[in-house]
Amino acid sequence: MIKLELHPDRLFSSDPTQRAFSLALYATVKDLPIVSPHGHTDPQWFADNEPFGNASGLFITRDHYVFRMLYSQGVRLEDLGIPRRDGAMVEHDARRIWRTFAAHYRLFRGTPTRMWLDHAFHEVFGIRERLTPESADRIFDRVNECLARPDFRPRALFERFNIEVIATTESPLDPLAHHAKIRASGWKGRVVTAYRPDPVVDPEFAGFRDNVAKLGEMAGEDTATWRGYLAAHRERRQFFKSMGATSTDHGHPTALTSDLAPADCEALFAKVLRGNVNPADAEFFRGQMLTEMARMSLDDGLVMQIHPGSMRNHNPEILERFGRDMGADIPTRTDYVRALKPLLDRFGNEPALTVILFTLDESVYARELAPLAGHYPILKLGPPWWFHDSPEGMLRFRAQATETAGFYNTVGFNDDTRAFLSIPARHDVARRIDCRFLAQLVAEHRLEEDEAFELAPELAYKLVKRAFKL
Ligand SMILES: [Zn+2]
Repeated sequence: MIKLELHPDRLFSSDPTQRAFSLALYATVKDLPIVSPHGHTDPQWFADNEPFGNASGLFITRDHYVFRMLYSQGVRLEDLGIPRRDGAMVEHDARRIWRTFAAHYRLFRGTPTRMWLDHAFHEVFGIRERLTPESADRIFDRVNECLARPDFRPRALFERFNIEVIATTESPLDPLAHHAKIRASGWKGRVVTAYRPDPVVDPEFAGFRDNVAKLGEMAGEDTATWRGYLAAHRERRQFFKSMGATSTDHGHPTALTSDLAPADCEALFAKVLRGNVNPADAEFFRGQMLTEMARMSLDDGLVMQIHPGSMRNHNPEILERFGRDMGADIPTRTDYVRALKPLLDRFGNEPALTVILFTLDESVYARELAPLAGHYPILKLGPPWWFHDSPEGMLRFRAQATETAGFYNTVGFNDDTRAFLSIPARHDVARRIDCRFLAQLVAEHRLEEDEAFELAPELAYKLVKRAFKL
């Protein structure tokens, strides 16, 4: 048996002065509640509070960040139990899936995934041995025994993780029945939604025209007209607000915004509704909708999040066989300075608007994003996200963004995950890395100790609450 340990100094500098400062700062933030303003947990878990099932379903089959790595090394997705669109047989024996995973666990050495998984094994399940082919069955059994217990149900874990509030992400077409059930249940856990309109603002989204029609039905508006379509958004946003939403989220291929005259908007909308849109029109329409969403946010106060720069479904064969969200989304080069100008020209100086920018293109932090956020009052910088939600990604972010945007134009951490059990681990990594960064500034006499002690809880807890109005 090989021991599994979480070292108390992990992620801190090996320099003794910096490490001592890091530990002192971390002691003040490690037990602060978790505020999770953006993520993809399933509200049904908290609504129904049913057990999570088995270890393979929880850690592997549902997590494309785990199985993409195995796929890259020749493991068939069928052998991990990923359902095929054509209904062909895939592995359904959870223990065998787990053994395949354990046989390939070495692939995660040095990755944040490995840290998150080990943290969950150790802290959530009390496991004290490393996952290897030899320990695979014992760990599988241990996790499954725990998951069957009442104190491992979703609400109990939510409370144990010290989550103050968590946001899920829903389409305007979602009736939010799970959120309604949570709110009616009397349970104290705070689960809020976020308005993610991609299916009804992206003409290239599968089923766009039907989605727009359904949006009209749900909102009681005629979405065959531009006016009615905008009114339907306003109506659904109000409904989302009534279910706790404080933000919207926009996952576009680029950060392009447009600011067309009303007559041109009507004509473009009519064109995209007719179908067979060309890529340029689709891009302009998405861009116009970012500007429209900013206008609506000025009225209803929802904070906007813009998440551009992912090329979805890069691998057509995987898309064909398994569908979307199978680990084949790949970052692309992203422009912000020119792309955001139409929206900024219109709303960049509005004191009541907050737009949080994310990137998958780290080359823009120092050149574009930090200078933009360090000037425009509406702009804030979201934390390193997705592929860059790693110790190195977080350090690169602070190193490149602080010089121009400072700390107060950033918004704390978000876990952006559907892997519920990894949430404490992810927030712990962010807190440790921020303390490490502050400790370095103190050790180099660029920041006084009292300032670092004031900043640490800002980065771990306060900034995110203020920025997202949570
Ligand atoms: Zn997300």
